[in-house]
Amino acid sequence: MSQFYKFLNIPAVQKIGRGFLQKLPEVLKEFHLYFEHPFFVSGTTETRQVAAIAQSSFRHFSYIQIKENSISEIERVEKEIDVSSPDVIVAVGGGKVIDTAKFVSMRAYIPFLSIPTSLSNDGIASPIAVIKFRKRVKSIGTVMPTGILIDLDIVEKARYSTILSGIGDLLSNISAINDWYISSKNTNEHFDEYAASLSILSSESFFLNSMKRGKISIELLARGLMMSGIAMAIAHTSRPCSGAEHLISHAIDRLYPFKSLHGLQVGIATPFVLYLQNDERYMEILEFYKGISFPLSPEKIGLSKKEFLEAVYLAPEIRANRYTILNRTKRDSIIEAFNNVYQ
Ligand SMILES: [Zn+2]
Repeated sequence: MSQFYKFLNIPAVQKIGRGFLQKLPEVLKEFHLYFEHPFFVSGTTETRQVAAIAQSSFRHFSYIQIKENSISEIERVEKEIDVSSPDVIVAVGGGKVIDTAKFVSMRAYIPFLSIPTSLSNDGIASPIAVIKFRKRVKSIGTVMPTGILIDLDIVEKARYSTILSGIGDLLSNISAINDWYISSKNTNEHFDEYAASLSILSSESFFLNSMKRGKISIELLARGLMMSGIAMAIAHTSRPCSGAEHLISHAIDRLYPFKSLHGLQVGIATPFVLYLQNDERYMEILEFYKGISFPLSPEKIGLSKKEFLEAVYLAPEIRANRYTILNRTKRDSIIEAFNNVYQ
């Protein structure tokens, strides 16, 4: 009898714990990974100290600090890599550092480890890199990290806005999965049950647990974001974690560049999109947001009603082949949703 399976590419190392960075080679050994010459990439602020902790247990290593996730910084890293010939790239930092390392890793055919210093979005574990090309920001398919190592002692000390941003990105899975399902019914797009389940269960377990306990679980946030990245890798598309709320955020980036953190923008758009999808969970999410001081409306991140609505109208054009609830929503309903969700 023939048997058919789906093969999954997931990172060899997935570790969430506390205080393990100073013994990184030992941790990697548990996963049968041995690297002789790591190349560390960090940012220029607090992430330098975290990188120093991780470096302390290696005899040989190379190191570079980057300012942003731009092509010029990528080329600077690549030049250094040509000189030092490392066997692994270790990204220690936030989204900009991890995205740069992903891109370099793909072009240099060198594995990379993702060691986030904050939990601001699901890019910590996804194969998608956000890179600045001149004035535009683009999401590019790259490679999955070989390892994702989240030290909770580090990420819980990061700015509170980064934690809120991660929460926004994780909860956006709920509207993203609705949109994926809507698209599968309207356009016959393939809907991957396994990836969708991973995405929605990660999001809901964090949400329900935090609601029940009346406080945020950093560990479930870390697990949720890690599983979201893996869901995208399994689906071979960002669909499990990116629907209309992400298109609205991308439109905000295009119209009003560098307005706010990605997760705050998608998190603000999520209840709005859920309302359009006739999903009553938008009320529970707003209730939860109130309790954790999450920005409750676009105004809270400096966007007027007019500016936000412009972004919503532009959103379906951002990715023409991404069918979402916005493809079949009239402007009257959009204004009604705004007035009901944000007022
Ligand atoms: Zn996102």
